[in-house]
Amino acid sequence: MSRKFLKGVGKIKIHEYQAKELLHDFGVEIPRGRVASTPEEARDVCVELGGTSVVKAQVYAGGRGQSGGIILAESPDESQRIARTMIGSRLVTKQTSVDGVPVSKVLVEEPADIVQELYVAITIDRASGGPVIIASSFGGVDIEELSAQEPEKIFQESIDISVGFNLFQGRRLARLMGLKNELVVPFAKNLEAIYSLFQRHDASLVEINPLIVTSDNKLVALDAKLTFDDDALFRHPDILNLADHDQDDPLESEAAGYNISYVKLDGNVGCLVNGAGLAMATMDLVKAAGANPSNFLDVGGSASEEKVSQALNIMLKDKNVEGILVNIFGGILRCDVVAKGIVSAYKSNITDIPLVVRMLGTNADEGKAVLSDAGLNVIFAESLSDVIERLRESLR
Ligand code: GDP
Ligand code: MN
Repeated sequence: MSRKFLKGVGKIKIHEYQAKELLHDFGVEIPRGRVASTPEEARDVCVELGGTSVVKAQVYAGGRGQSGGIILAESPDESQRIARTMIGSRLVTKQTSVDGVPVSKVLVEEPADIVQELYVAITIDRASGGPVIIASSFGGVDIEELSAQEPEKIFQESIDISVGFNLFQGRRLARLMGLKNELVVPFAKNLEAIYSLFQRHDASLVEINPLIVTSDNKLVALDAKLTFDDDALFRHPDILNLADHDQDDPLESEAAGYNISYVKLDGNVGCLVNGAGLAMATMDLVKAAGANPSNFLDVGGSASEEKVSQALNIMLKDKNVEGILVNIFGGILRCDVVAKGIVSAYKSNITDIPLVVRMLGTNADEGKAVLSDAGLNVIFAESLSDVIERLRESLR
């Protein structure tokens, strides 16, 4: 399995309806409902629910609410009609690429009775290296935006794994969030349940946004996102079977097939680098040049000419790419091998997308000669600050 270091970070996702089933197994309340793969099934479920329902597109992306992926149906016929337009289509949200992701199932649920929307998540805190609970009484919205604009509305509680979650921590969060008295203990118990799911399944993220408060003071998980640490998946073959590979980014899947560690990002500069640390540093350089990386990619320490060329092919398929930055520190991986791979990808793609290259180490001079001789639109950079300057130039 490929390792990823960023957004998606080494993570296997599952669908909302599957995440909700797991949460329910651990004692978290979820809305009544069922997943449907056909419009007729969506109709049947709506009948079972009493004649009204909410139809929710099942995709590995949030932001469905604002993009037509969550629609209220006032009747079974309407539920069927909505499911017919969703199933088989591609949903585009602000979290997907412009091509969107395919919808093959919808979750049909009873309409929720929402008094308040809370945010709850458990993930691994990179600073402390342990689990952290993140909670806010301003749920339903984009949590990244909230944390950027009003960080004081978000509260955190670290969990010491040798002690585990203590209900006291949940009560403290509930008080900080200003929940009413009768919700304090139920909220803490919900967190206890969520943490035991997190821990038992080696999750890397459990996010419930929103966890709603209903008019009869119940806490219900209205949405659920679960991702798992792929280093621990050998312990959970059941989870691995849930993964829906149709939801994966096509470029990431192609890269995984070549055993290339590639994560698709939203920017305009493709980065070809060896070593995860250098790859991270290179992405910072791209940002310093006023651009954004279109990918994270580590070709590894012993890539062949063919692997380098496949990596570049994948980058060049990304329509947002306006420039390529190669930052190679030659060791076992020879710079001339990388250069030959680059040349062959540029020739077969017939492209003149500007190329900024920094090569150091084994056979760096030979590598640069290969690139110059091939007549590519290449600018060489020496130092890291030089990379920033050259990249700026090339994108002008
Ligand atoms: P997301 O946009 O992909 O995160 O999808 P969610 O399932 O979180 O839904 C987004 C928003 O739609 C929620 O925050 C709610 O405000 C609203 N919503 C979702 N389901 C229901 C429902 O059953 N009833 C009502 N009234 N609103 C809902
Ligand atoms: Mn949500």
